[in-house]
Amino acid sequence: MEKITVVVPCFNEEAVLPTFYEKITEIKNRLSEQAYLSLLFVDDGSRDGTARILSELAENDTSVGYISLSRNFGKEAALLAGLEAASGDYVAVMDVDMQDPPEYVIYMYDMLKRKPDLDCVAARRITRRGEPPSRSFFAHSFYKLINKISDTKITDGARDFRMMRREMVDAVLSLGEKCRFSKGLFSWVGFHTGWLEFENTERVAGDTKWSFWGLLKYAFEGILAFTTAPLVLPLIFAGMFLTSSVVLTVLAAVLQVSGLVTAVLALSAVITFCTSAILTAMGIMSSYTSKMYREAKNRPVYIVRRRGGNL
Ligand code: UDP
Ligand code: MG
Repeated sequence: MEKITVVVPCFNEEAVLPTFYEKITEIKNRLSEQAYLSLLFVDDGSRDGTARILSELAENDTSVGYISLSRNFGKEAALLAGLEAASGDYVAVMDVDMQDPPEYVIYMYDMLKRKPDLDCVAARRITRRGEPPSRSFFAHSFYKLINKISDTKITDGARDFRMMRREMVDAVLSLGEKCRFSKGLFSWVGFHTGWLEFENTERVAGDTKWSFWGLLKYAFEGILAFTTAPLVLPLIFAGMFLTSSVVLTVLAAVLQVSGLVTAVLALSAVITFCTSAILTAMGIMSSYTSKMYREAKNRPVYIVRRRGGNL
């Protein structure tokens, strides 16, 4: 029988874990004629009862396995730990907070069965109902920007909720980078992806782990990981300044007379503008340098503290 491994990253999720387990077990039973569904939880250094609940689940249910990381490494690291340990012919990744409707696991599997040409079925939110408007605004702007400046297309509203065939999972794992931005990696490896759409649902319990700054940093990481377009900005600035300095020189030569105050003002405007442009250019370069530094250190993306259940 075919095996589906469902990878579920969890960080301080004791409030939703039992509900999720109940729902996904229902799905497992509904699928039992066609495939064997196993659960692979990754406890991303939770400080609440998540690890305890997981070990209890693993003791009582042979389809449950879990990995506990030694500290909170972030969702991307937890996803990688899960994908590396997943042994299914099909691997699904989903959040534990019920924002990814569990019944879609069935639809995804059905779609992969019906359409052999597809390698992956992913879910996309068509609304962001219930989300703060500012978060939706920044999210939309981020997708517009990254799709404009990067060759890797990232679908607006795509969640990290998808089911992939083994070949695609292996391809994603073959990318050795440490700074991982999964939405981009899933797109970069290619393959044929079918999309299922759904309305946004809110978390059933617990709180989102993302702050505004956390999301902004995540978006920035995505840009740094998937395009080098910003590296061209210093050159554009250089061109702009060369042109304006020529224009200013010509103007000074032609006009020859001017009030001292105007001259000082104009001069300070030029100096501050130039300074900001130079700092921007340096900032962009140092951002990429810091990425190279992190890759060069070659540290593991996560460290496992404990493994349990059926892996
Ligand atoms: N998560 C994680 N490590 C983290 C943050 C989040 O494993 O450092 C997990 C979390 O438990 C959940 C999923 O990633 O299953 C999505 O997190 P969240 O619901 O907070 O994000 P949002 O849905 O608000 O984007
Ligand atoms: Mg969520």
